Amino acid sequence: MSNWEEVTKHCKEHQARLVAVSKTRSFPEIQNLYDKGQRLFGENRVQELLEKVDQLPADIEWHLIGHLQTNKVKMVLPKVTMIHSVESVRLLEEIETQASKIQKNIQVLLQLHVAQEETKFGLSRLELTALLDRYLAGNFNRVQIVGVMGMASLTQDMQQVRNEFREIKGLFDYVKNGYFINKKEFTEISMGMSGDYQIALEEGSTLVRVGSLLFQS
Ligand SMILES: *Cc1c(COP(=O)(O)O)cnc(C)c1O
Repeated sequence: MSNWEEVTKHCKEHQARLVAVSKTRSFPEIQNLYDKGQRLFGENRVQELLEKVDQLPADIEWHLIGHLQTNKVKMVLPKVTMIHSVESVRLLEEIETQASKIQKNIQVLLQLHVAQEETKFGLSRLELTALLDRYLAGNFNRVQIVGVMGMASLTQDMQQVRNEFREIKGLFDYVKNGYFINKKEFTEISMGMSGDYQIALEEGSTLVRVGSLLFQS
């Protein structure tokens, strides 16, 4: 069984979707996964995503999984169905503005900061609730918050990784119960990469973002 088949099988067992992370990969490598049946791909950089979209089959669904600057929202929005990396009200507002201009509905995830490391990205718990208060009070018609995204620490300590995924799942439940209790759309938990996707699936991931593992044979 190829790695792609194995990851795909694990995802099915957990009713999760596989986002094949194609950053830095060549067109033939991506086409190869496409030919096996993969249709959902993720890129972490806007420029690279834009270069790839137009040269690959049109029925690929693209997700932006990496940091997004507000000045690039306009360019990337027409090409993607989901943005995993919303971490400020300002970005959320810019996505709404640009989406309403082109009359497109767009799904987004709130990126949470849980890792031990001092990474620059992701919302703290306080920022998360402030953003949600704004979202529910404001005029957001095109942008729909459908879940959360997070990354575990880069560590060999798999118990720590598991604990961090539990923290993400806990925050998901907290947001769902506190803000989306009567709404169906809040369902997604984006967590898990090549080294830890199986743990992520066990801890409730609905979208795993796996790159390097899929391209090894
Ligand atoms: C690169 C990347 C991944 C995939 O990482 P791998 O270790 O190659 O599976 C997942 N999420 C984000 C945000 C990434 O940038």
